[in-house]
Amino acid sequence: MKSQDIRAKFLSFFEEKQHSIVPSAPMVLKDDPTLMFVNAGMAPFKEYFLGNAEPKNKRITDSQKCLRVSGKHNDLEEVGYDTYHHTLFEMLGNWSFGDYFKEEAIAWAWELLTEVFGIDKDMLYVSVFEGNKEDGLEMDTEAFDIWKKYISEDRILTGDKKDNFWEMGDQGPCGPCSEIHVDIRSAEEKAKVPGKDLVNQDHPQVVEIWNLVFMQYNRKANGSLESLPNKHIDTGMGFERLCMVLQGVQSNYDTDVFTPIIKEIETITNKTYRKDEKVDVAIRVIADHVRAVAFSIADGQLPSNTGAGYVIRRILRRAVRYGFTFLDKKEPFIYRLVDVLDKKMGKAFPELKAQKQLVENVIKEEEQSFLRTLDQGLVLLNRIVEETKGDTVTGAKAFELYDTYGFPIDLTALILSEKDLKLDEAGFNEELQKQKDRSRAASESSTGDWTTLIEDDVEEFIGYDALQANVKLTRYRKVSSKKDGDMYQLVFNLTPFYPEGGGQVGDKGYLEDAYGDVVYILNTKKENNVIIHFTETLPKHLNEGFKVVVDEKQRHRTECNHTATHLLHQALRSILGTHVEQKGSAVHSKYLRFDFSHFSKLTEDEIRDVESFVNARINGKIPLVEKRNIPKEEAIAAGAMSLFGEKYGDTVRSIQFGQSIELCGGTHVKNTADIWHFKIVSEGAVAAGIRRIEAITSDAVKDFYSENNRLFFEMKGLLNNAKEPIKALQNLQEENTSLKKQIEALLKDKAKNIKGDLKSELTEINGIQFLAKKLDLDAAGLKDVAFELGGEVENLFLLFATENEGKALLSCYISKDLVASKGLNAGQVVRELGKFIQGGGGGQPFFATAGGKNPEGITQALAEAKKYVG
Ligand code: ATP
Ligand code: MG
Repeated sequence: MKSQDIRAKFLSFFEEKQHSIVPSAPMVLKDDPTLMFVNAGMAPFKEYFLGNAEPKNKRITDSQKCLRVSGKHNDLEEVGYDTYHHTLFEMLGNWSFGDYFKEEAIAWAWELLTEVFGIDKDMLYVSVFEGNKEDGLEMDTEAFDIWKKYISEDRILTGDKKDNFWEMGDQGPCGPCSEIHVDIRSAEEKAKVPGKDLVNQDHPQVVEIWNLVFMQYNRKANGSLESLPNKHIDTGMGFERLCMVLQGVQSNYDTDVFTPIIKEIETITNKTYRKDEKVDVAIRVIADHVRAVAFSIADGQLPSNTGAGYVIRRILRRAVRYGFTFLDKKEPFIYRLVDVLDKKMGKAFPELKAQKQLVENVIKEEEQSFLRTLDQGLVLLNRIVEETKGDTVTGAKAFELYDTYGFPIDLTALILSEKDLKLDEAGFNEELQKQKDRSRAASESSTGDWTTLIEDDVEEFIGYDALQANVKLTRYRKVSSKKDGDMYQLVFNLTPFYPEGGGQVGDKGYLEDAYGDVVYILNTKKENNVIIHFTETLPKHLNEGFKVVVDEKQRHRTECNHTATHLLHQALRSILGTHVEQKGSAVHSKYLRFDFSHFSKLTEDEIRDVESFVNARINGKIPLVEKRNIPKEEAIAAGAMSLFGEKYGDTVRSIQFGQSIELCGGTHVKNTADIWHFKIVSEGAVAAGIRRIEAITSDAVKDFYSENNRLFFEMKGLLNNAKEPIKALQNLQEENTSLKKQIEALLKDKAKNIKGDLKSELTEINGIQFLAKKLDLDAAGLKDVAFELGGEVENLFLLFATENEGKALLSCYISKDLVASKGLNAGQVVRELGKFIQGGGGGQPFFATAGGKNPEGITQALAEAKKYVG
């Protein structure tokens, strides 16, 4: 069965069991501070498990893109070495949110695997949770009894907390789980060692394919467990592993998910898969990593120097490094695999197909820049090798290479071993640990449990219509971090405060109680669908009502910038072309930033056209047409633009200003006229094929022009209030150029005259024409004079000195024949005499200079010069 059909079959099986099929959520998470990437199918549904939102259908099925490269689940170092762990993989899942539980989950999993997919029952093992004393949990006999109905008891294994108790993080929903393992070894091998002894023993042919999680507890901040009011089912099956089983192969990389990519790598690199283990690992690493990187970019996460972007950069660099070392690829090639990937997966994941060109460009540029880093690193490493006495390179040196220049440590180790040198690995690891400790200390934080004041109040957002409200506090908690100190997070029954999201900053403002006590709200954010207000202190009277008030001025300026962002998007697409895709935006009160795909720098004309386009719409006084809670299909049909990497619900909000229609949750002006004016302040590149525009509107534009005006008058004042300031400035510039030329000519003349004088001052000592003298010339002047004299006089030894702005300079000239015949060396002379002026320098045997900070020493240096010829 082809992989596409396997995926489709899984989804349709659960669809028949009344599950709604939903698309994979983007991999990069936006409103979850505890997680950077989706690392399990459940991550996009956390709000349902936490009870912060209700799904439309209590039964859902999907194939979710997951990335396990950081945090609690990190498989990166395994990838390539084994045959069944990936960085990016698809997790097939079926979900019950407070609907069916263990009975159905187990029955359906069994039916699908053994009847629909026809997997031999004798290949399967299952596991149940054995219990845990510390947590006060008994064995999961409920699951055990259900499994007994389907599978013989000797195939039901028990497992500990590590394997059979799923937790999404340190806190939150969790519960026991049942894993399903499959043994795909040959009959002979099975006869030698029974499969049950190999379950969870890292055997490449006895692997876990499906995990059924029974969410029934909530883990609190103090580590204790409480029962959840609603019990949920969360299952996750590794799609690539399922394909391995159903296609009768022994490795995920031998399924049709990977074989086309591997073939392409073989063609490009001229290497053969399955001949040499080192080459095989490299090929698997690259085949895997290109998927992770390509999908991340398509989901809007570009490689960068921080956060999620840095994780992506590191994955790509790992691939480049394996290609560089084991496949001898010294030029970019990974980007060339995107084409095959698109042919294979573009249908199921349209975000990749639509952005193929962009993905290729970004990967290619990243490859190029890292290959340059590797080149530089090799030079630095060679220098380290030359400087190393003994046979070991210190950990500190290797760490510097790794930390400052991004040079991978395993490559350092490899190159050193080729040169018969050792690497002090313990020393390196110590440095690495120190760095980790430093950054952990800097980002340390703790989150307390919620204190609930009012139960069951669903928080409502009223900020599209109101900026003030009378509210009640429903719950709060304390969070502490090194960065922000102690803060409180407050949740109200309703709120006009807009939480940071869709690029727009969170609202600020204050709350006030009936006694006039005021607490400032410093920021507003959304976390797993709950709106959280940040304060530095807790209000005094927690249980009485509050008036909450949004900072209107900041909100208004932010709204001007948000609406302008939509108009800018529209302008770019109509002026530059529809290849322009939004790649990120930041809407602040003071400015807006907009990143978009486009291949070249915008010309002055294009920038002016874009500004005019937006300003024309501002002058056109276009009213806002806002539609809330309309079906997504309806909005798209009306021409609304949606963004890749954004998670939309079934119903959406559309924001329209004339021809500009976008799906958007942000706040906007009521009429474009409110924006007053739009001005681009900068345009530049952020990555290959991605440009960034920064712009301002309303009050900021007024400030911008009045500041420019002030500058202009100040400059005009300096030009004696000339009627035509530009002309006056040009005149000044011309005058300046001609004066410079005159000075140069004068200095040349002066040097010529000096030469004549100096010639007469030469004294002959031991057949050498000698002169040591302080001159009133700059460094270039000294050199000119010395060389001119050298051209006319043979056997010359000159030491000149000069003083300039408190600094001393020595310069020594020795005729080449003297260098050869008498073994004199100007470099040595200035080094030795340099100590009198407290400085140093060097150069060539016939000409050298030294600078120093003690002009007082010049006299002595000149006096000492004689000893070289005497
Ligand atoms: P393993 O012990 O094999 O690492 P796991 O216990 O980490 O698996 P779960 O977190 O339960 O796995 O994830 C559910 C399913 O997702 C697994 O049964 C497996 O089929 C699949 N899976 C997990 N990690 C990976 C990975 N890195 N690459 C591919 N598939 C994976
Ligand atoms: Mg794992």
